[in-house]
Amino acid sequence: MSATKATPTEAIAMTYVITETCIDVKDKSCVDVCPVDCIHGSDDDRMLYIDPSECIDCGACIDPCPVDAIYAEEDVPPDQQAYLEINRQYFTERQAARRRVDELRPSLGSDDVRSVGSAPSAMTEGLTPSPDTTLRRALP
Ligand code: SF4
Ligand code: SF4
Repeated sequence: MSATKATPTEAIAMTYVITETCIDVKDKSCVDVCPVDCIHGSDDDRMLYIDPSECIDCGACIDPCPVDAIYAEEDVPPDQQAYLEINRQYFTERQAARRRVDELRPSLGSDDVRSVGSAPSAMTEGLTPSPDTTLRRALP
């Protein structure tokens, strides 16, 4: 389903954008409320994307999102600006958009989980004092 978006007084139309916190969450709460079915994604995607040519800028998808991933284009935070292009790119170069998402937020696939599990010190070093450290600090 598509909707007429631009009017003569809206030469530069705003759209809504899905950002990083959707990645690997993708619960589709936004899809359920979108009146024009312009939020897309497949099982092969790690996040969903808003088609800027279909979005009617109603804002209905913002509140249902459990991870605050959706912004009006003009409100996208500075550290999420890449997702402006990624949302658009998904509808022209799907694989390129997926690769960009993987670059920005590498997947913790099974291989990565095994890798993390084999190097616990790299993950925890500096975060949790060892019992010895705690004991030394408690001693006079
Ligand atoms: S702003 Fe409205 S039309 Fe656009 S994606 Fe959200 S719910 Fe759909
Ligand atoms: S509601 Fe939020 S987390 Fe869920 S699919 Fe939509 S953008 Fe992603």
